[in-house]
This record gives sequence, C-alpha cells and structure tokens, in this order.
Amino acid sequence: MENGKIFDIMKYSIHDGPGIRTTVFFKGCPLHCQWCHNPESQRFEQELMYWPDRCIGCGQCLEVCPNGAVTSEAGKFEYLRDKCFACGACSTVCHAGVRELVAKTMSVSDVMAEIEKDLIFYDESGGGVTFSGGEAIMQPVFLLEVLKECRKKEIHTAVETCGYVKLESLQMISDYVDLFLYDLKLMDTKKHQEFTGAPNELILGNLRWLAEHHPQVIVRVPIIPTINDDEENLSQLGEFVASLRRVTKLHILPYHNAGSDKYRRLGRRYLLPGIQPPDNERMEKIKGQLEQFGLNIKIGG
Ligand code: SF4
Ligand code: SF4
Repeated sequence: MENGKIFDIMKYSIHDGPGIRTTVFFKGCPLHCQWCHNPESQRFEQELMYWPDRCIGCGQCLEVCPNGAVTSEAGKFEYLRDKCFACGACSTVCHAGVRELVAKTMSVSDVMAEIEKDLIFYDESGGGVTFSGGEAIMQPVFLLEVLKECRKKEIHTAVETCGYVKLESLQMISDYVDLFLYDLKLMDTKKHQEFTGAPNELILGNLRWLAEHHPQVIVRVPIIPTINDDEENLSQLGEFVASLRRVTKLHILPYHNAGSDKYRRLGRRYLLPGIQPPDNERMEKIKGQLEQFGLNIKIGG
C-alpha cells in the first residue's frame, strides 16, 4: 500500500462538489499560480510555516534544532530558513504553534478513517469526499487506492484538478471518480506560462480527453481581475468549453486574497498584492458573457 503526502483534511465543505463534503488536500502541484491561496500546497517537499508573533520565548526549539536554524539573542528567538531542512523537530516541541510542518504522510487507512467519520453527513446531504491540493493526481497510485476504497464503501468522490498531469495518470483514476472539477485559467499559452509557470496545451488536451470519456465534468474558472477577465480570454474559454462533448457546466470563482499572508509565513513573496476581488456586478457580467456560449454558469463552487 502506498502512503500519501497530505497537507490538510477539511470537514463540512460545501464548495467542492455536491452536498456536505470532506476535502482532502494533497501536497505538491506542478503549477505555481500567482493567485494561489494555498501556497503551502505548491511544493512537493516538506516545509515549515512560521508564526513568530505567537512565540512565548520558552526556548525549546533552540534546544532541539539539529542544524542551527534557530538563534537566540536577548531572549528573542529567530528562525533562519536557509539553514532549515524541515525535519520537524521544533514543531513537535513548540506548544505555541509558532512552527508548523505543512504536510504529513498518511496511509490509505489513515485517510479513510478521516473520511468515514462523516458518512452520516454525506448520506443526508448527497455529499462525499473531494480530493484537491496541490494536485491530487500527482500522487496517482495513492489516489487510486483511496478512490477504490471509497467506491467499495459507496462514497461519492470528486477530484479537483489543474489538469497539468500525465494523461496516463488521468486515465488510471478516471473510472473510479464520480465527478471531475477541472480548472481552466488562461487560453493564451504564453500568458498561462507567465502566471502559472507552465504552458496550457497539456491541460486543454487532457480536458478534451476527459470530456470524451467521463460523464461528469464541471469546469471551474477563477476570475482574476486584469489577468484573465478580459473579453478575449473569456470568449476563447467559453468557445472552447462549449465545443467539448457533454461538458455544459462552468463555475466562475471570484478571486480573493485570503491566503496572501501565508506566503510570508513560508518565506515567499506574494506577487499580486494590488489586485482587488471582483464585485458581484462584475461577476454577473462575466456570467452573462459566458452564458452566450450556451453554457450553464454558476458563480461560486
Ligand atoms: S524544522 Fe528542523 S531544521 Fe528546521 S528549524 Fe525546526 S528543528 Fe531546525
Ligand atoms: S519553541 Fe516555540 S514558543 Fe518556544 S521559543 Fe521556540 S518558537 Fe518560541
């Protein structure tokens, strides 16, 4: 049995598919979208999130750090990220929550135990479990094993994907997934490369394959003002989705910057500090534009 690298399991979600859901977030993503509100999901390797304002000065971290990544001066404890190799020793002794390892390694039965705690909510609401990330399909063998367990127990499954994955991985899991939530962002491949770190041909090709072979695919588009909400991108995107077999539903998700502080906690810079979330009027206008392609558009997940 494979183990997976999971950075969070969120209960009672109502935005990641039908009904009440448990969302399992996998660590590691092949894209690095500049607006990502889960930057701790992006890297495949373990990381430490650092909340210095919570420090109570007990000094435990200094004692256990094997690599000199904690220093102390006049009772103030500092963190030297470039010396840290995320071993996690400090996070186990820091009871103030200053130092948190982002992900943990979980077995299939660990994940299933969490999922099964809420069976009653899935049954009553028509919900289930959603595998998100990061990119869950980047851990295809582990994901497949969990999906098979869910199928055995008749738990509805959704996979949210950025689509930048090997087609073979998508094909491997497809029969065990009840619903795909497939993200599309930018139709211009150069712009896609600029803002997500990768071109979009693989993403579009995989979506075409999925539309031919899977009955339940919803396309999701984050609306990022000044980056992908222009007339040209929306028209190309609407036309492309409308040309896909069986895909009729498209969800537009307004950008928000709620995750921007996490970049600082991870020692990184948030690249879109000036962008404001779109208001309702703007979202309604975009909805109207996309409806012209005969698609069923919903604002929100
Ligand atoms: S994670 Fe390990 S190396 Fe990094 S600061 Fe903590 S104890 Fe030191
Ligand atoms: S263990 Fe936590 S609370 Fe104690 S000094 Fe280190 S960071 Fe501060």
